[in-house]
Amino acid sequence: MKSHSQVRKRPIEPMLKLMNTPQEMIEWRSSVSSKKTVGFVPTMGALHQGHGLLLKKARQDCELVVLSIFVNPTQFNEKTDFDNYPTSLDSDLKLASEAGADVVWTPSYSAMYPDDFRFKVTENSFSKILCGKDRPGHFDGVLTVVMKLFNLVRPTHAYFGEKDFQQLTLVNQMVEAFFMNLLIVPVPTVRETSGLAMSSRNARLSPQEQILAAEVYSSLRETKSPAEAAQRLKEKSIQIDYLEDHGNRRFVAVRIGNVRLIDNVEI
Ligand code: AMP
Repeated sequence: MKSHSQVRKRPIEPMLKLMNTPQEMIEWRSSVSSKKTVGFVPTMGALHQGHGLLLKKARQDCELVVLSIFVNPTQFNEKTDFDNYPTSLDSDLKLASEAGADVVWTPSYSAMYPDDFRFKVTENSFSKILCGKDRPGHFDGVLTVVMKLFNLVRPTHAYFGEKDFQQLTLVNQMVEAFFMNLLIVPVPTVRETSGLAMSSRNARLSPQEQILAAEVYSSLRETKSPAEAAQRLKEKSIQIDYLEDHGNRRFVAVRIGNVRLIDNVEI
Protein backbone atom coordinates (compact mmCIF):
# COMPACT_ATOMS: atom_id res chain seq x y z
CA MET A 1 0.00 0.00 0.00
CA LYS A 2 1.04 3.61 -0.45
CA SER A 3 2.76 3.96 2.89
CA HIS A 4 5.09 6.62 1.47
CA SER A 5 2.16 9.06 1.70
CA GLN A 6 2.45 8.90 5.50
CA VAL A 7 3.55 12.19 7.00
CA ARG A 8 6.98 12.12 8.58
CA LYS A 9 7.17 13.16 12.21
CA ARG A 10 9.11 16.39 11.66
CA PRO A 11 6.80 18.93 9.95
CA ILE A 12 8.06 21.05 7.06
CA GLU A 13 5.25 23.57 7.52
CA PRO A 14 5.43 24.51 11.19
CA MET A 15 1.86 25.91 11.42
CA LEU A 16 0.30 22.64 10.29
CA LYS A 17 -0.60 19.90 12.71
CA LEU A 18 0.35 16.58 11.10
CA MET A 19 -1.33 13.31 12.00
CA ASN A 20 -1.11 9.76 10.69
CA THR A 21 -3.40 7.48 12.66
CA PRO A 22 -7.18 7.39 13.23
CA GLN A 23 -6.41 7.42 16.97
CA GLU A 24 -4.59 10.75 16.67
CA MET A 25 -7.58 12.18 14.77
CA ILE A 26 -10.07 10.88 17.36
CA GLU A 27 -8.04 12.41 20.20
CA TRP A 28 -7.62 15.75 18.42
CA ARG A 29 -11.33 15.91 17.57
CA SER A 30 -12.32 15.15 21.16
CA SER A 31 -10.14 18.05 22.30
CA VAL A 32 -12.04 20.49 20.02
CA SER A 33 -15.02 22.27 21.58
CA SER A 34 -18.34 20.94 20.26
CA LYS A 35 -19.31 24.57 19.54
CA LYS A 36 -16.56 24.95 16.92
CA THR A 37 -17.12 24.50 13.21
CA VAL A 38 -14.78 21.97 11.59
CA GLY A 39 -14.40 22.05 7.81
CA PHE A 40 -13.12 18.87 6.16
CA VAL A 41 -11.50 18.44 2.74
CA PRO A 42 -10.92 14.76 1.86
CA THR A 43 -8.39 14.22 -0.96
CA MET A 44 -6.05 11.68 -2.48
CA GLY A 45 -3.13 14.15 -2.50
CA ALA A 46 -1.06 15.43 -5.43
CA LEU A 47 -2.80 18.68 -4.61
CA HIS A 48 -3.52 21.43 -7.14
CA GLN A 49 -5.48 24.68 -7.14
CA GLY A 50 -8.79 22.77 -7.28
CA HIS A 51 -8.02 21.27 -3.88
CA GLY A 52 -6.73 24.72 -2.88
CA LEU A 53 -10.15 26.26 -3.58
CA LEU A 54 -11.88 23.63 -1.42
CA LEU A 55 -9.50 24.48 1.42
CA LYS A 56 -10.00 28.24 0.97
CA LYS A 57 -13.80 27.84 1.09
CA ALA A 58 -13.46 25.73 4.24
CA ARG A 59 -11.18 28.41 5.73
CA GLN A 60 -13.79 31.10 5.02
CA ASP A 61 -16.66 29.12 6.58
CA CYS A 62 -15.08 27.25 9.50
CA GLU A 63 -13.00 27.80 12.62
CA LEU A 64 -10.85 24.72 11.99
CA VAL A 65 -9.88 23.11 8.69
CA VAL A 66 -8.83 19.45 8.28
CA LEU A 67 -7.31 18.03 5.09
CA SER A 68 -6.96 14.28 4.63
CA ILE A 69 -4.64 12.65 2.10
CA PHE A 70 -5.48 9.02 1.49
CA VAL A 71 -5.11 7.22 -1.83
CA ASN A 72 -8.07 4.90 -1.30
CA PRO A 73 -7.35 1.53 -2.96
CA THR A 74 -10.98 0.31 -2.79
CA GLN A 75 -12.14 2.92 -5.32
CA PHE A 76 -9.60 1.94 -8.00
CA ASN A 77 -10.55 -0.64 -10.61
CA GLU A 78 -7.16 -0.86 -12.25
CA LYS A 79 -4.11 -1.76 -10.20
CA THR A 80 -1.85 0.21 -12.57
CA ASP A 81 -3.97 3.35 -12.04
CA PHE A 82 -3.56 2.94 -8.27
CA ASP A 83 0.16 2.16 -8.55
CA ASN A 84 0.73 5.15 -10.86
CA TYR A 85 -1.36 7.60 -8.84
CA PRO A 86 0.91 10.63 -8.32
CA THR A 87 2.16 11.56 -4.86
CA SER A 88 3.83 14.84 -3.85
CA LEU A 89 3.71 15.13 -0.09
CA ASP A 90 6.16 18.03 0.34
CA SER A 91 4.35 20.31 -2.11
CA ASP A 92 0.98 19.12 -0.72
CA LEU A 93 1.97 20.33 2.75
CA LYS A 94 3.04 23.69 1.31
CA LEU A 95 -0.24 24.12 -0.58
CA ALA A 96 -2.27 23.01 2.45
CA SER A 97 -0.48 25.48 4.67
CA GLU A 98 -0.86 28.37 2.19
CA ALA A 99 -4.56 27.61 1.69
CA GLY A 100 -5.12 27.73 5.45
CA ALA A 101 -5.41 24.12 6.64
CA ASP A 102 -4.91 23.55 10.37
CA VAL A 103 -4.54 19.77 10.27
CA VAL A 104 -3.20 17.38 7.61
CA TRP A 105 -4.06 13.75 8.24
CA THR A 106 -2.58 10.83 6.25
CA PRO A 107 -3.98 7.52 7.51
CA SER A 108 -2.84 4.15 6.11
CA TYR A 109 -4.93 1.44 4.45
CA SER A 110 -4.60 -1.00 7.37
CA ALA A 111 -5.72 1.68 9.82
CA MET A 112 -8.69 2.77 7.69
CA TYR A 113 -9.77 -0.78 6.80
CA PRO A 114 -9.40 -2.94 9.93
CA ASP A 115 -12.15 -5.09 8.33
CA ASP A 116 -10.18 -5.30 5.02
CA PHE A 117 -13.30 -3.96 3.23
CA ARG A 118 -15.70 -6.67 4.43
CA PHE A 119 -18.19 -3.89 5.18
CA LYS A 120 -19.15 -1.36 2.53
CA VAL A 121 -21.65 1.36 1.68
CA THR A 122 -23.51 0.59 -1.55
CA GLU A 123 -25.88 2.74 -3.57
CA ASN A 124 -28.02 1.00 -6.16
CA SER A 125 -29.12 3.57 -8.67
CA PHE A 126 -27.15 6.71 -9.60
CA SER A 127 -23.85 4.96 -8.76
CA LYS A 128 -24.46 2.38 -11.50
CA ILE A 129 -24.38 4.80 -14.45
CA LEU A 130 -21.68 7.11 -15.88
CA CYS A 131 -18.42 6.37 -13.97
CA GLY A 132 -20.12 3.54 -12.06
CA LYS A 133 -20.85 1.68 -15.30
CA ASP A 134 -17.24 1.84 -16.49
CA ARG A 135 -15.80 1.29 -13.03
CA PRO A 136 -17.89 -1.34 -11.19
CA GLY A 137 -17.62 -0.92 -7.42
CA HIS A 138 -15.90 2.45 -7.70
CA PHE A 139 -18.57 4.32 -5.75
CA ASP A 140 -18.78 1.57 -3.09
CA GLY A 141 -15.14 2.38 -2.40
CA VAL A 142 -15.75 6.15 -2.45
CA LEU A 143 -18.83 6.11 -0.21
CA THR A 144 -17.28 3.63 2.22
CA VAL A 145 -14.11 5.64 2.70
CA VAL A 146 -16.03 8.92 2.97
CA MET A 147 -18.25 7.38 5.67
CA LYS A 148 -15.17 6.16 7.57
CA LEU A 149 -13.42 9.54 7.24
CA PHE A 150 -16.54 11.42 8.38
CA ASN A 151 -16.91 9.12 11.42
CA LEU A 152 -13.34 9.90 12.48
CA VAL A 153 -13.17 13.64 11.69
CA ARG A 154 -16.81 14.38 12.64
CA PRO A 155 -16.81 17.56 10.52
CA THR A 156 -19.58 20.16 10.63
CA HIS A 157 -18.89 20.95 6.95
CA ALA A 158 -17.27 18.87 4.19
CA TYR A 159 -16.15 20.26 0.83
CA PHE A 160 -16.45 18.40 -2.48
CA GLY A 161 -15.64 19.57 -6.01
CA GLU A 162 -18.22 19.80 -8.79
CA LYS A 163 -15.45 18.36 -10.99
CA ASP A 164 -16.58 14.97 -9.61
CA PHE A 165 -20.27 15.82 -9.79
CA GLN A 166 -21.52 12.24 -9.57
CA GLN A 167 -19.40 11.72 -6.43
CA LEU A 168 -20.65 14.99 -4.91
CA THR A 169 -24.27 14.00 -5.58
CA LEU A 170 -23.84 10.51 -4.11
CA VAL A 171 -22.07 11.80 -0.99
CA ASN A 172 -24.87 14.32 -0.47
CA GLN A 173 -27.49 11.57 -0.86
CA MET A 174 -25.59 9.26 1.54
CA VAL A 175 -25.54 12.03 4.16
CA GLU A 176 -29.32 12.39 3.81
CA ALA A 177 -29.97 8.63 3.75
CA PHE A 178 -28.00 7.97 6.95
CA PHE A 179 -29.10 11.16 8.80
CA MET A 180 -25.48 12.27 9.06
CA ASN A 181 -25.14 15.56 10.87
CA LEU A 182 -23.01 17.70 8.55
CA LEU A 183 -23.31 20.04 5.61
CA ILE A 184 -21.87 19.06 2.20
CA VAL A 185 -20.58 22.19 0.45
CA PRO A 186 -20.16 22.03 -3.36
CA VAL A 187 -17.20 23.89 -4.88
CA PRO A 188 -16.96 24.92 -8.58
CA THR A 189 -14.43 23.25 -10.88
CA VAL A 190 -11.07 25.00 -11.13
CA ARG A 191 -9.62 24.95 -14.66
CA GLU A 192 -6.36 25.64 -16.43
CA THR A 193 -6.47 28.68 -18.75
CA SER A 194 -6.99 26.19 -21.60
CA GLY A 195 -10.25 25.10 -19.93
CA LEU A 196 -8.87 21.70 -18.90
CA ALA A 197 -10.28 20.78 -15.48
CA MET A 198 -7.43 20.54 -12.98
CA SER A 199 -6.81 16.95 -11.91
CA SER A 200 -3.98 15.12 -10.18
CA ARG A 201 -3.97 12.74 -13.16
CA ASN A 202 -3.10 15.61 -15.56
CA ALA A 203 0.50 15.23 -14.35
CA ARG A 204 0.57 11.96 -16.32
CA LEU A 205 -0.29 13.69 -19.63
CA SER A 206 2.46 14.74 -22.05
CA PRO A 207 2.42 18.42 -23.18
CA GLN A 208 0.74 17.36 -26.48
CA GLU A 209 -1.83 15.29 -24.59
CA GLN A 210 -2.61 18.27 -22.34
CA ILE A 211 -3.44 20.36 -25.42
CA LEU A 212 -5.70 17.57 -26.68
CA ALA A 213 -7.31 17.23 -23.24
CA ALA A 214 -8.44 20.88 -23.38
CA GLU A 215 -10.77 19.80 -26.23
CA VAL A 216 -12.86 17.92 -23.69
CA TYR A 217 -14.17 21.07 -22.01
CA SER A 218 -14.54 23.10 -25.20
CA SER A 219 -16.48 20.29 -26.85
CA LEU A 220 -18.87 20.19 -23.88
CA ARG A 221 -19.33 23.94 -23.86
CA GLU A 222 -19.45 24.76 -27.53
CA THR A 223 -21.90 22.10 -28.74
CA LYS A 224 -25.66 21.70 -28.43
CA SER A 225 -26.04 17.95 -27.89
CA PRO A 226 -24.04 15.00 -26.52
CA ALA A 227 -23.92 13.56 -30.06
CA GLU A 228 -22.40 16.76 -31.44
CA ALA A 229 -19.85 16.90 -28.60
CA ALA A 230 -18.96 13.22 -29.15
CA GLN A 231 -18.49 13.85 -32.87
CA ARG A 232 -16.08 16.67 -32.12
CA LEU A 233 -13.99 14.50 -29.80
CA LYS A 234 -13.96 11.63 -32.31
CA GLU A 235 -12.62 14.01 -34.97
CA LYS A 236 -9.65 14.57 -32.64
CA SER A 237 -9.32 10.78 -32.17
CA ILE A 238 -10.16 11.08 -28.47
CA GLN A 239 -11.53 7.82 -27.06
CA ILE A 240 -14.85 8.36 -25.25
CA ASP A 241 -15.99 6.18 -22.31
CA TYR A 242 -19.30 8.06 -22.03
CA LEU A 243 -20.81 11.40 -23.02
CA GLU A 244 -24.33 11.81 -21.66
CA ASP A 245 -26.79 14.34 -20.28
CA HIS A 246 -28.35 13.73 -16.86
CA GLY A 247 -30.57 16.31 -15.20
CA ASN A 248 -29.21 19.71 -16.13
CA ARG A 249 -25.62 18.53 -16.68
CA ARG A 250 -23.56 17.04 -19.49
CA PHE A 251 -21.03 14.42 -18.29
CA VAL A 252 -18.01 13.07 -20.11
CA ALA A 253 -15.22 10.54 -19.52
CA VAL A 254 -12.42 10.10 -22.04
CA ARG A 255 -9.12 8.30 -22.33
CA ILE A 256 -6.08 10.18 -23.52
CA GLY A 257 -2.94 8.05 -23.65
CA ASN A 258 -3.38 5.78 -20.63
CA VAL A 259 -5.08 8.49 -18.55
CA ARG A 260 -8.83 8.58 -17.90
CA LEU A 261 -10.24 12.10 -17.53
CA ILE A 262 -13.73 13.21 -16.50
CA ASP A 263 -15.52 16.54 -16.71
CA ASN A 264 -19.05 17.96 -16.63
CA VAL A 265 -20.84 21.24 -17.31
CA GLU A 266 -24.24 22.70 -16.55
CA ILE A 267 -26.50 22.76 -19.63
P1 AMP B 1 -9.20 13.89 -5.36
O1 AMP B 1 -7.94 14.20 -4.64
O2 AMP B 1 -9.06 13.86 -6.85
O3 AMP B 1 -9.92 12.70 -4.79
O4 AMP B 1 -10.17 15.13 -5.10
C1 AMP B 1 -10.45 15.58 -3.81
C2 AMP B 1 -11.52 16.63 -3.89
O5 AMP B 1 -11.08 17.71 -4.71
C3 AMP B 1 -12.83 16.11 -4.51
O6 AMP B 1 -13.93 16.68 -3.82
C4 AMP B 1 -12.75 16.64 -5.92
O7 AMP B 1 -14.01 16.82 -6.54
C5 AMP B 1 -12.05 17.96 -5.70
N1 AMP B 1 -11.42 18.44 -6.94
C6 AMP B 1 -10.55 17.75 -7.73
N2 AMP B 1 -10.22 18.47 -8.82
C7 AMP B 1 -10.90 19.64 -8.72
C8 AMP B 1 -11.00 20.82 -9.53
N3 AMP B 1 -10.32 20.94 -10.68
N4 AMP B 1 -11.79 21.83 -9.10
C9 AMP B 1 -12.49 21.71 -7.94
N5 AMP B 1 -12.44 20.64 -7.13
C10 AMP B 1 -11.66 19.61 -7.51
